[in-house]
Amino acid sequence: MRAAKLRGNQQLLRQRLESLEGRSYREYKSLKGLYEFSEFELSIDYVQGDPFASPSRIRVWISQQVAEFPTHWLIDYAAQIAIADYLTRQVAQVAQVLAPKSGSGKSGEIAIAPTSQAILRRTAIWITTEGIEARLTVGLPAWGRRIAGNAAAKLLCEIIPQLVSQGLKYKSLEAKALTRHVQTFQDAEALRSQLEPNGLVAFIAAGACLPRRSGVDERSLTQDADPFVLPIESLSSEPQTDSCITLQTPHSGPVKGLGIPAGVTLIVGGGYHGKSTLLKAIEQGIYNHVPGDGREQVVTHSAAVKLRAEDGRSVVGVDISSVIDHLPKGRRSDWFTTTNASGSTSQAAGLVEAIAAGAKVILIDEDTAATNFMIRDRNMQTLIAKEKEPITPFVDKVRQLYEDYDISTILVMGGSGDYFSVADTVIAMEDYQPRMVTQRAKAIAQADPMQRRTEGGQGFGKINQRAILPESIPSGKADRLPKIKVHRHGLMLGYEPIDLSAIEQIAETNQVRAIAQAMLYAQRYYFDEKTSLGQILDSVMSDIARGGLDSLATGLSPDRPIMSGDLAEFRRFELAAAINRLRTLKVGSIS
Ligand code: ADP
Ligand code: MG
Repeated sequence: MRAAKLRGNQQLLRQRLESLEGRSYREYKSLKGLYEFSEFELSIDYVQGDPFASPSRIRVWISQQVAEFPTHWLIDYAAQIAIADYLTRQVAQVAQVLAPKSGSGKSGEIAIAPTSQAILRRTAIWITTEGIEARLTVGLPAWGRRIAGNAAAKLLCEIIPQLVSQGLKYKSLEAKALTRHVQTFQDAEALRSQLEPNGLVAFIAAGACLPRRSGVDERSLTQDADPFVLPIESLSSEPQTDSCITLQTPHSGPVKGLGIPAGVTLIVGGGYHGKSTLLKAIEQGIYNHVPGDGREQVVTHSAAVKLRAEDGRSVVGVDISSVIDHLPKGRRSDWFTTTNASGSTSQAAGLVEAIAAGAKVILIDEDTAATNFMIRDRNMQTLIAKEKEPITPFVDKVRQLYEDYDISTILVMGGSGDYFSVADTVIAMEDYQPRMVTQRAKAIAQADPMQRRTEGGQGFGKINQRAILPESIPSGKADRLPKIKVHRHGLMLGYEPIDLSAIEQIAETNQVRAIAQAMLYAQRYYFDEKTSLGQILDSVMSDIARGGLDSLATGLSPDRPIMSGDLAEFRRFELAAAINRLRTLKVGSIS
């Protein structure tokens, strides 16, 4: 907060605003700077040029002498994240009551970056033992194109103090709800940390509510949702002991659930019986969820990556020869490049890219996979000779992936039994309830007289590392940074659109914005002909771990960093996915 220039106190700001009544809107610009209020500091960082432009940005800093959060809560990093997340939601609610959207544009509105079901570290609010910083946007009030100075004075000098008081002081919060938020987060962290020691890649607690309200509403389905139950053995009604596991949590004690072991796991079952819903919950188990979400105790290995077919995407210089070789017309598969991938080649490229980025678990749903990438049955093997089929189906690669690279796979596959023989674990979903059917599936596979020939060859094959060249991202006008625009399913870097609609593990738009900044940051500091994408990801992620998400802005414009409140933490995999989808990507090979 110290960065901004001190301009005066609350009274001065009020007088200044009142004196601007009726003046040209642009004169709001003169307000930039820091103001001391009785209980906090207000920094006006960016002033919008007109009433319809994106709103102005302000920051509020309140010390712990005033906020009064119990110190013992704040020494824990996990608790800091959870409290900041809670406060962000609290401020959003209070702001909606105190300063709702009214009139034209965003005039008179106070807002904080919108959240999702995930508890994430964001730049909207950060809390330490010293104090709390909150970053908000305000639509500075206008009459047409004139300043509504009295309304602005009320907004900044009366409503903001109320917002601070009701939204950021410990005394005004519901202690129980806050405690639950923090404890839910800490429990989920504890559960996830027990996955690897127990040989698991995912855990679904009994009682979890997995279905969502709708395809566009990530909140928990409340009516007619069947809670997740412990799996039973296919032929008995007793809970199956080796898949039911008890993990420990600091606040809820022992928690029983289904543990999905490392290796190859198959989720089978009839249509509409809850297979995809289970996989989706696993996919999102990389995040900790808010109380009431239903998936608070569903946790997944943090390097689990959802993979799907994405025909039409661009691919640059990816060695997909381990799964697709001998492309027609002599097209190279060890340096596969296309502006318009097919279903199977997009999925192959996605797989190799995920491995190169360090994925440890691959998640695939038949609903969104390319059939010819996944399977090739006996009859088709007979009709089309191996030499005429470039694709080695994933069924012949999935075990090698585990054995050679220690990468597990969880697969939803209701339509083909070909995976029975390569799976370590088979879970059948029936009426939304899991059953363990591994033994039966194995027996069926062994008894099959028409077994298919395996085509996988000796091993999975090598994964190439590519250097990312600096010219991959075109610079903006007059060599300035390209403008960033984001939405939930993609972004624009200057005039370059990047489609992220197939990246299903992005939880909220704040992450997309942070990814966009991270791409520009990576370009400035790490893109060159010698550094692999894997190393670039290491460097960017460790810079963020050390300096926070703000280090992106500081790195991009050291003189005038924009301290925006709408960034959220993201994983290396989603950053890699965005870089790999740049249509202007230029890569070099690294030997
Ligand atoms: P599948 O992939 O097996 O075809 P889905 O997972 O898509 O099935 O689920 C089918 C429907 O059932 C979806 O609308 C989903 O929301 C709903 N559903 C899934 N699990 C449950 C559950 N435990 N309770 C209630 N509804 C559920
Ligand atoms: Mg499905």
